Formats: sequence, structure tokens, C-alpha cells
Amino acid sequence: MNVTKILNGLEAKHPGESEYLQAVKEVLESIETIYNENPQFEAAGIIERVVEPDRILTFKIPWLDDSGKVHVNLGYRVQFNNAIGPYKGGLRFHPSVNLSILKFLGFEQIFKNSLTTLPMGGAKGGSDFDPKGKSDAEIMRFCQAFMLELWKLIGPETDVPAGDIGVGGREIGFLYGMYKKLVREHNGVLTGKGLNWGGSKIRPEATGFGNVYFAYEMLSTKGLSFEGKTVTVSGFGNVAWGAVSKATELGAKVVTISGPDGYIYDPNGISGEKIDFMLELRASNNDIVAPYAEEFEGAIFHAGKRPWEVKCDIALPCATQNELNAQDAQNLVNNGCICVSEGANMPSTPEAIEIFHKNKLLFAPGKASNAGGVATSGLEMSQNSMKYAWASADVDDKLRRIMKDIHEACVKYGSQPDGYVDYVKGANIAGFLKVAEAMLDQGII
Ligand code: NDP
Repeated sequence: MNVTKILNGLEAKHPGESEYLQAVKEVLESIETIYNENPQFEAAGIIERVVEPDRILTFKIPWLDDSGKVHVNLGYRVQFNNAIGPYKGGLRFHPSVNLSILKFLGFEQIFKNSLTTLPMGGAKGGSDFDPKGKSDAEIMRFCQAFMLELWKLIGPETDVPAGDIGVGGREIGFLYGMYKKLVREHNGVLTGKGLNWGGSKIRPEATGFGNVYFAYEMLSTKGLSFEGKTVTVSGFGNVAWGAVSKATELGAKVVTISGPDGYIYDPNGISGEKIDFMLELRASNNDIVAPYAEEFEGAIFHAGKRPWEVKCDIALPCATQNELNAQDAQNLVNNGCICVSEGANMPSTPEAIEIFHKNKLLFAPGKASNAGGVATSGLEMSQNSMKYAWASADVDDKLRRIMKDIHEACVKYGSQPDGYVDYVKGANIAGFLKVAEAMLDQGII
């Protein structure tokens, strides 16, 4: 494999798709050596086939707001690869959504899902619709209009979407309601469903919990734990709140959360009633970060800034892609941070990752450390197939086990001669090998 040639070819075919090209580059650079040691991969054109999605559906979504005005958004589903199981990956509703972002997310999802050890292929979808400030009725009408196009492409054995940015339990409910009406079946086609109608216990908090479990495993390799540590977190959405809760439960003090407008520094720690306060604001579509500073004494809102300037032992970026750059990484290193575990997808830029590696930080890429969300979605699919629901403790045990196994796989393939573990390399190789071998078994399709 010639990485430069493949990347140049992709750049010529897909100009301007920077996030997608960034994600492909990282994976290709990690797997280059092992790929070239296995000539059967080259002979079967595995790389050329895995970097392009199987298919992309693009559609328009007309919907009416509460005043009767018509709006038109764009919707997408990128079905990337189903070598090891049905397509699986979230839906993102955010004004920044475009094909490059969904292709990067779908590509990453292939290897993340492979790492979970569960039979799931990779996909992603969404829309440039902005749920912020919309009424529940507007969200419902939009979700229904979205599903009117999507339903033909998905199914419990075909493609199983879930949530992502802007898509939580409420949106999954509206999407599922319309799907059910169209197919006249109650099946497990979406994950992240409500507990009363097929959802799995622990799914809402699974990505954040899983991220903390992964960081716990990394810290354990150095004889360290969360106990007494100071933690910075970005975002306060589906992923961040689970991470904040679990890190606190394990004895750490979480001192930041953030939004697109800035971050909160709360030296007293973000826990208990403060988390409940933010969840309530979130449920009613309100901004969270600025009101927090008004409500809780001692908390300071830093407008237009990111939390990585705050002194911490552990950083958990849980907001969005490329939210932690080289300067942020250097700030973390200078302030003595020992561990960075990504809750979001690709939050650290390549330059930031280089700094983490150079300074031998424990650094986990989202593809490994945030896989707990999709893993629990996989567990939801299993429960739906069995028409059975496991108890919270059972799901949590399975999640913890899966995160431990992913950590072991990363160590197996990412250990360097000096003993440092390159978790990026480890995750990419472990995730890729399983998919590549399945593709070899299944012929050229
Ligand atoms: P949410 O929409 O629930 O939360 C995102 C949070 O990040 C919100 O608090 C949002 O603030 C904040 N935010 C958005 N943009 C910025 C920014 N530029 N700077 C700082 N904060 C920002 O999304 P999720 O929690 O579901 O997803 C977060 C990340 O985790 C994404 O990368 C997603 O792909 C990834 N992920 C999610 C999984 C899941 O299970 N949901 C699974 C695996 C990965 P505001 O609301 O004010 O805009």
C-alpha cells in the first residue's frame, strides 16, 4: 500500500472533504506496516474498497414550523461497510452536518464497531437541521419527515441507526414512532430507545461511562486511578454527562464543562444536584453552560475559551471533532495532565495527538474509548432479538468487560519497544484486521 498515492487519489475524487480525508489518513498510516505484511489484503483491494462507502442516500426534508412556515433541510445516510454485521451508527442533527463529516464518522464507525467484538458494520447519518430552540412539536414534525425517507433503507438486520449530536432519547422516540407506523412492525431498528419500548438500561450514559472505564484501564497500567484526580470535561451532552457522573463516582473532581460559547470552571466540582440542574435545562432545549455560572456560587464562565487551559490530571474531550488543537495539547502537557481519553469522535487534531505521543501521555482515541455507546447499542439489539431486558448491573458489567477487552486489544497491537502504548495505532490495527479478514472471506463484492 502506498498511503500518499491512495490519499492523493481520494483528495482528487473528494475535494474539500477534509474531515473524511483526515480520518482516512490516520487509519492508513497506522495500518501500513501490517497491511504490507499481508499481501492477500493488497490482492483483494481491501483498502481501496474499505475507504469508500457502500452507498450514500441523500434526501430533502421539508417540514413546517409552529408558525406554518416551510423549511427544507438535507438528510443523509452513509452505509459504509457491513462485512461483520448490519450497518450501525448514529444520526447527527446539527447545522454543521455535511457529507465530509458523515463520511469521517461512518469510516471511524467501521473500526470502532469491530473493536467492540459485537457483529456490527459501520454507518452514519443525519441532517443539517438545528434542534436548538425548536419546540417539541417542531422536533417531532422534523423527525417524522426525516423517517419518511430513511425507513426504506433501514431494518433490524440491515441498518440500525442510533443517536449522536442533537439526537437523544426524544428524537429516537419520534423517529421510531414514524418507522413503526410505516413498516407496521415493532422491531429493534433504532437503538437508544426508551426503556418502556425496547431500550437498554445504561444506554443513555454508556458512552460516557465507557470512556471513563477505558481511562481507568489506562491509568491502571501505571498503578493509578481516578481517586483524588482533577478532571476537565468538554461539552455537556449525551456523552459528557455520563463521563462527569462516572468520574465523580470513582472519586475524581470534575471542574469543567463547556459549550460552543465557552466553558465553566467550577473549583467546587460538578456533581449531584448540579448535574440534575443541567439535565433539566437540556431536556427543555435551553443553553446550559452560561446559566450554570449564574446558579452555582464559585463557578466562572470563560466566554469564547476552551477548558484545556485549566490544570488537570485527566482530560475528557466529549463535545465535537477538532476541539482540542496543538496549543491546547501543549497547555495540558505543561499543566501536568497524564491522561487524555476521547469521549467525542476525533476531538483532538493530528498535531495535538503528536504532542500527546511525544510527551508519552496516556492517550485514547475515541474509536476505542467512546465505543461503549455503540457496544451498549449492540447489547440493546441482542435484547430486542431475545425479547428480553437485562438488569442495569448486567449491562454495566458487560460494558465494563467490553471496554477492558478493547483496552487489551489496543495494548496488544499498540505496544512500542520502549513499553509506551500507542493506543491510536493499536485501535486502528485491531479494528481493521477483523474487518479485512471478513472482507477476504466474503469475496470481491
Ligand atoms: P450532544 O449534542 O448531546 O452534546 C454535544 C455537547 O457539546 C453539547 O453540550 C454542545 O453544546 C457541546 N458542543 C457542541 N459544539 C461545541 C464546541 N464547538 N465546543 C464546545 N462544546 C460544544 O452530542 P453527544 O454527546 O451525543 O456527542 C458528543 C460527541 O461524542 C460527538 O463527537 C459524537 O459523535 C460522539 N459520540 C457520541 C455517542 C453517543 O452515544 N451519543 C457515541 C460515540 C461518540 P450545545 O448543546 O450548547 O450546542
